[in-house]
Amino acid sequence: MIRCRFCGKRAVEVLKQYRLSLCRDCYVKFYERQVERAVKRYKIVKSGEKVLACVSGGKDSSAMLAVMKSLSETADFKLEAMFIDLGIRDYSEMSLNVVEKLCEKLDVNLNVVRLSDYGIRLENINTKRKKCSACGTAKRYLMNRFARENGFDCVATGHTSDDILAFFFKNWLSGNFSWSAKFLPRTEGFDKMVTKVRPLYLSSEKENMLYCVCRSVPFLNENCPYAPSKDVWKDIIYDIERKKPGFKRCFVMNLVKYLKSKTHTGSNGESYRYCRLCGEITTSDICAFCRLKQRNTPVK
Ligand SMILES: [Zn+2]
Ligand SMILES: [Zn+2]
Repeated sequence: MIRCRFCGKRAVEVLKQYRLSLCRDCYVKFYERQVERAVKRYKIVKSGEKVLACVSGGKDSSAMLAVMKSLSETADFKLEAMFIDLGIRDYSEMSLNVVEKLCEKLDVNLNVVRLSDYGIRLENINTKRKKCSACGTAKRYLMNRFARENGFDCVATGHTSDDILAFFFKNWLSGNFSWSAKFLPRTEGFDKMVTKVRPLYLSSEKENMLYCVCRSVPFLNENCPYAPSKDVWKDIIYDIERKKPGFKRCFVMNLVKYLKSKTHTGSNGESYRYCRLCGEITTSDICAFCRLKQRNTPVK
């Protein structure tokens, strides 16, 4: 039997990168301390801020809400949750059920926004790929607008070190370098753009899953039916991490160092204007969300 390094009870997990074996309770404490340190180190949330945590019901955003709730008990920030009902039959219902349980358990106020209220139905979009990208556009748009219109200082998402790495490789290989602000643990807002924060920046999907299991945090262990079935980059990153424990954490930490040394502004140096139809920030005449709406005649 492997014993917990801290208390001697039976260990549930061996964390290779830290050379640590921990029991259930000690893992929960360890994970929360890790996130707390990242939040402080990168000043992810500032004192007195009102944070809107976007939750999907998946393990990462559920872990994010749970750990942020724990941190909010000692730190000076307010926390509410937001769920975007994308109207994906069965899947959206199941997700909402889990999110309701989660928020009740954690005693966090839940805001639900429905995509159908904005006249968009994903089922009217033809291909799976287009549905998935429309969903991303809609989520980014709605969380920003909802947060701003309801007086939140920042939007928190459950992005992990795995997400950051996969995103980095994809963009790097396609020669797209206009992404840098999205890779930071905190992207300052500007004009109508609300600040975006990523409290799990240094945490991995596996660590989040283990945290949910150890703390009995409700989450839905099912992928969206429209999501691409396999992300090859995640597999590659997983393989590297297996051979080089600590690779992910080290990579994203140094990515931040690099990006910070280049002094970026929130707007990423790009010029922006306002959508002719809804007034939100965009780089073109009509924003991606309104274009989506135009292509998507709702079923009456
Ligand atoms: Zn222990
Ligand atoms: Zn618009």
